[in-house]
Amino acid sequence: MPTKRKITNLSALISGLSPEDRALAERIFDVSTTTGRLDPPEAMHAWISKSFGSVDRVTAQRIVKVTNRITLEGTLFNELRASRPLDTGVSLDLDREIAATEGDPFCHPEEGTPADVFGRVEGEHATTASNVAKYDGFHGVIVFDDHNPLHLTPEKVAGYVSVGLQWGRKALEADPKARYPFLMWNCLWRAGGSIIHGHAQVTATRGTHYPKVERLRRAASAYKTEHGSDYFSDLNNVHASLGLDIPLEGVRAFASLSPIKEKELVVIGDEPADPSLSRAVGALLEGYVHNLGVRAFNVAFYMPPLGPTQEDWSDFPTVVYIVDRGDPANRTSDMGAMELYAASVVASDPFRVAEALRNGSPDSS
Ligand SMILES: [Zn+2]
Repeated sequence: MPTKRKITNLSALISGLSPEDRALAERIFDVSTTTGRLDPPEAMHAWISKSFGSVDRVTAQRIVKVTNRITLEGTLFNELRASRPLDTGVSLDLDREIAATEGDPFCHPEEGTPADVFGRVEGEHATTASNVAKYDGFHGVIVFDDHNPLHLTPEKVAGYVSVGLQWGRKALEADPKARYPFLMWNCLWRAGGSIIHGHAQVTATRGTHYPKVERLRRAASAYKTEHGSDYFSDLNNVHASLGLDIPLEGVRAFASLSPIKEKELVVIGDEPADPSLSRAVGALLEGYVHNLGVRAFNVAFYMPPLGPTQEDWSDFPTVVYIVDRGDPANRTSDMGAMELYAASVVASDPFRVAEALRNGSPDSS
């Protein structure tokens, strides 16, 4: 009987790969499985059964620890945590809450927001503004024409990204040292967005890239020196060999085996301005919202610098991360000390995430 494709069977699934695929998977990932046990008093049984389905599910819990040996990103998967009772606070109608802020300053950016020193970039679906309280010397806001950020389509997302990249080139013209761009989207408060109206953000920094981007460049460069092959291609091939890839035109995309938090997707494109990359990101976000019920998410674009630098970026593609930040009605933060300082704890199974985005509907198994 074939091994069921789920994260708790990851070690067995890797063992079942062809020798070449298995060697590559074991080169990049360290996988170990453990069982957490407990002994609940009789008085708790009814509550446990109601909350988690059965007492057996709780008394022996399978936990899979996945560590990316190259980048030292790591995740602990425990499906049981997804059915853990949470304080969901007041129930709220998200659409109503979003609609209630219509007419905010981002609905009329020309009067409601400042421009950058180089003016605004205006596109078909968005206009840029200058962020009032800046992360960095250059910090712009990509203000979407749509108030509701969840009314997204691949075309609109491609428009948002295109405006952000044009903003990066304007910043470089204004300051030739501001070579390192970063593009991000915090959708709704749960993902760190302070304003509901649809918006992404873009920054440009000097000197060296942001430390997490630079750390990935160094890890990939060391990998190439040691193994003589491209880290990003190998990473994608490991995910594809296990069936975690999501086929999309012009990019490589997969549900990550070492997600930073729930349902993390990685999209690798040749270069940031390639429209098939931003459209693929838009298609995945559409699947996120419609197939997986995600409402709050982060998107981050890791891009090479726009001008010549001392570091070698020649092998660095554009890497886009997409992650679910949980239910906006939930008052418990999705990240605590474990995620900030040790390893990520994740409930969603990447095999289910890939299936839901590939088939267009979530798998309930
Ligand atoms: Zn608005």
